[in-house]
Amino acid sequence: MAESRLDEYRKKRDFQKTSEPEDLSVQFDWVKSEPIFVIQKHAASTLHYDFRLEVDGVLKSWAVPKGPSTNPSIKRLAVPTEDHPLAYADFEGVIPEGEYGGGTIMVWDRGTYRNLKEGDETGGAPPTVAEQLEDGHVAIWLEGQKLRGGYALIRTGSGEKARWLLIKMDDGEADSQRDPVDEEPNSVKTGRSMEEIQQSLESGD
Ligand code: MN
Repeated sequence: MAESRLDEYRKKRDFQKTSEPEDLSVQFDWVKSEPIFVIQKHAASTLHYDFRLEVDGVLKSWAVPKGPSTNPSIKRLAVPTEDHPLAYADFEGVIPEGEYGGGTIMVWDRGTYRNLKEGDETGGAPPTVAEQLEDGHVAIWLEGQKLRGGYALIRTGSGEKARWLLIKMDDGEADSQRDPVDEEPNSVKTGRSMEEIQQSLESGD
């Protein structure tokens, strides 16, 4: 199942040239029993933040040009991209120039998440996150190192014109004074800056 959904991921990449994960089996020491999320800062042709959620064995993915906000009044555009393998959540490094997504990738935030939707009054089960994606309205609670609290992903428009918005919910974790994209720029995996990740490649680390 997850294998065929990753066809597009594999088709876009030459694993002789990029160090991105090809092996789809993975174990993380930083994850317990809940599904994971990761946000990767990606300096490609333009800087963006790749927001990825574990759903049914793959990472559903969106490119968020301005990155996530902790301010509930700010809506951030999120452009869907191809499903990525779970192993990608640990990837930090440099994709060679000229390859798909060429540029530096940092693990900017990561953690687990849970479904915030509730069941109906008749005792029905809450919609799964996969069902919420189909419906174009996802409500989740993130437990990351930088981001915590409720977030909504909302689809507007349809077909080719479909766009998603990533919005902080107005809960106790909302903070209009914080700006994690600007104030907390480094990797949660290694503490490195984008420049340090880039340089480690050049020095062969
Ligand atoms: Mn990207």
